[in-house]
Amino acid sequence: MVENVMDKIVSLAKRRGFIYPGSELYGGLANTYDYGPVGTELLRNIKNLWWKYFVQSRPDMVGLDGSIISHHKIWEASGHVAGFADAMVDCKNCKSRFRADHVIEDYLSRMGTDPSQYGIHFKSLVFDSSWGFNKGTEIEDIIRKQKVEGLDENQLDALIKYIFKISCPKCNIKNGNWTPVRKFNLLFPVQLGIVEGEGGLGYLRGETAQLIFTNFRNVVDSTRVRLPFGIAQLGKSFRNEITPGNSVFRTIEFEQGEIEYFFDHDETKWEPLFEEWKKTMDAFVVKQLGINKENVRWRLHADEERSFYSKRTEDMEYKFPFGFKELWGLAYRTDYDLTRHQEASKKELTIVDPKTGKKVLPHVIEPAVGINRLLLMVLVDAYVEEEKRTVLKIAPQLAPYKVAVFPLLANKPELIKKAHEVFTLLSPVYMTAFDDRGNIGKRYLSQDEIGTPWCVTIDFDTLADDTVTIRDRDTARQERIKVADLILYFARKLES
Ligand code: ATP
Repeated sequence: MVENVMDKIVSLAKRRGFIYPGSELYGGLANTYDYGPVGTELLRNIKNLWWKYFVQSRPDMVGLDGSIISHHKIWEASGHVAGFADAMVDCKNCKSRFRADHVIEDYLSRMGTDPSQYGIHFKSLVFDSSWGFNKGTEIEDIIRKQKVEGLDENQLDALIKYIFKISCPKCNIKNGNWTPVRKFNLLFPVQLGIVEGEGGLGYLRGETAQLIFTNFRNVVDSTRVRLPFGIAQLGKSFRNEITPGNSVFRTIEFEQGEIEYFFDHDETKWEPLFEEWKKTMDAFVVKQLGINKENVRWRLHADEERSFYSKRTEDMEYKFPFGFKELWGLAYRTDYDLTRHQEASKKELTIVDPKTGKKVLPHVIEPAVGINRLLLMVLVDAYVEEEKRTVLKIAPQLAPYKVAVFPLLANKPELIKKAHEVFTLLSPVYMTAFDDRGNIGKRYLSQDEIGTPWCVTIDFDTLADDTVTIRDRDTARQERIKVADLILYFARKLES
């Protein structure tokens, strides 16, 4: 049932031009997607709204657009070369590769939170010294928490092969036929220069955040920012992810919106700042993106799950059809990143407080989100099946087209001409569609499926009195409006 909803959304997204599978013409390329005409508009609208909300409308924020290909030393200093790796396991039978934590967590969610339902007598389980566990109660805790973050490769290996004896999710071979769990780095290396070795090694950035830290000095020196302030970046990141499924939820190339909010931790208490950021993120999701707040929750990372440099991490999670999943991470990263780059580059990254002359190496709070995940959430949250139609009730300011203009009949030149005039009036202000195919009812249904909030029909009365019919997507109600009032009418609707 749940998968059914996701299947329907994925199918609508392809059929109506939101999201296509990547490289489909040549058989597809796993974990890549292309955005079609309306998907491109929706993605752009979400990005623009994010930028406007977090950068342009705040006096304490500035923007940055860092390079995608960057020096290998950035990623060595940040710890990504050594530690940005996922534990993977391969099925020797069907040759599929999986993230080890996902294999276990999917199994746990199928089996439930009650250890007695697992058919394992945890008290009498004999533990091998290589497993990294000592007592059955440790395994029972994992079952109750349904989480394995923070466990090492040996522990994941033991859980999959010896304790739970999990079958391959793809070929289902009983008790599994697994390779050892191994770590794979997620960074994509790029060889720079025409001759191999000439330009040396670079990396496609694995997150946008590091470019904010490496440009911190430049921003401070070239602008008039004062602590506390934030630097925001919106752009592509790349990770060699192998997890299949769930559309654009997890892809190897994705758009990130990241903010590093710098503050002097002697002057500003981090706890209230952290809470303030949670509220700001909530307001963006609920008020700006129009998401139902019942579908959003916060989850605090436990100690074993949190990165060692983070004092607190919380994930905003959204209720996708495949479960509550991370949408947006919020972490207090202390001065870890600036310290690492200061040490590795041997350049001072402190900022001088103009009032006291004190040198400060700022701490940061980092809200980091995947824009494509926001887009998937918007589609899921907006998807409504009614008796006679499927509607995407997308917040009007995000909708790919704001208005669709229809001539009532396609074979009446005077109606077509007038409809083109209305299109020309509206299109410089609002993204406007024009459709004269099929009957009006079908055109409405077609616009409902891509979330167009208003349809304007030009009929014979229009020619007589210059009024049109506006039909509302959500209520299907119609009203008659003068052509001259249309622009103001939509402006008021978009404001409300
Ligand atoms: P996950 O646990 O889902 O892999 P993460 O904790 O590694 O995510 P971060 O590094 O904190 O994620 O990245 C911040 C945000 O970027 C995430 O909350 C998510 O919205 C988005 N994101 C991360 N990886 C991907 C991906 N492969 N595809 C799409 N979005 C992603």
